[in-house]
Amino acid sequence: MTDCIFCKIIKGEISSAKVYEDDKMLVFKDIEPKAKVHLLAIGKQHFKLLSEMDGERAELVKYMLMKIPRIAEENGCKNGYRLVINQGDDAGQTVFHLHIHILGGQQLGW
Ligand code: 5GP
Ligand code: ZN
Repeated sequence: MTDCIFCKIIKGEISSAKVYEDDKMLVFKDIEPKAKVHLLAIGKQHFKLLSEMDGERAELVKYMLMKIPRIAEENGCKNGYRLVINQGDDAGQTVFHLHIHILGGQQLGW
């Protein structure tokens, strides 16, 4: 996706503060953090919504969910963290490349 900000981050066309990267996923700091620790986990495969899930995409999301606990712990979330996946306008989704917010480093309110 040429006009997707997160695809550009994956390609290195937009810089980001990366905390983890492998061949399938990237985790970087959110540019406007909503908590002491606010990371974004993205897959290196562009799709927008969980409703577009197929077998391959489900494997990617599963892979990310299996990696996140260790990445979160190593980046200041030893005491817990919250995962958020905004879906669509009512949730305030602004970037349409599926991403998992990792929030922590403090007591989180609702
Ligand atoms: P959404 O609202 O779509 O769930 O989350 C998008 C997130 O991406 C927001 O929290 C926003 O701050 C973050 N974001 C948008 N553009 C950039 C960027 O260029 N770099 C980084 N690091 N984060 C971004
Ligand atoms: Zn993308």
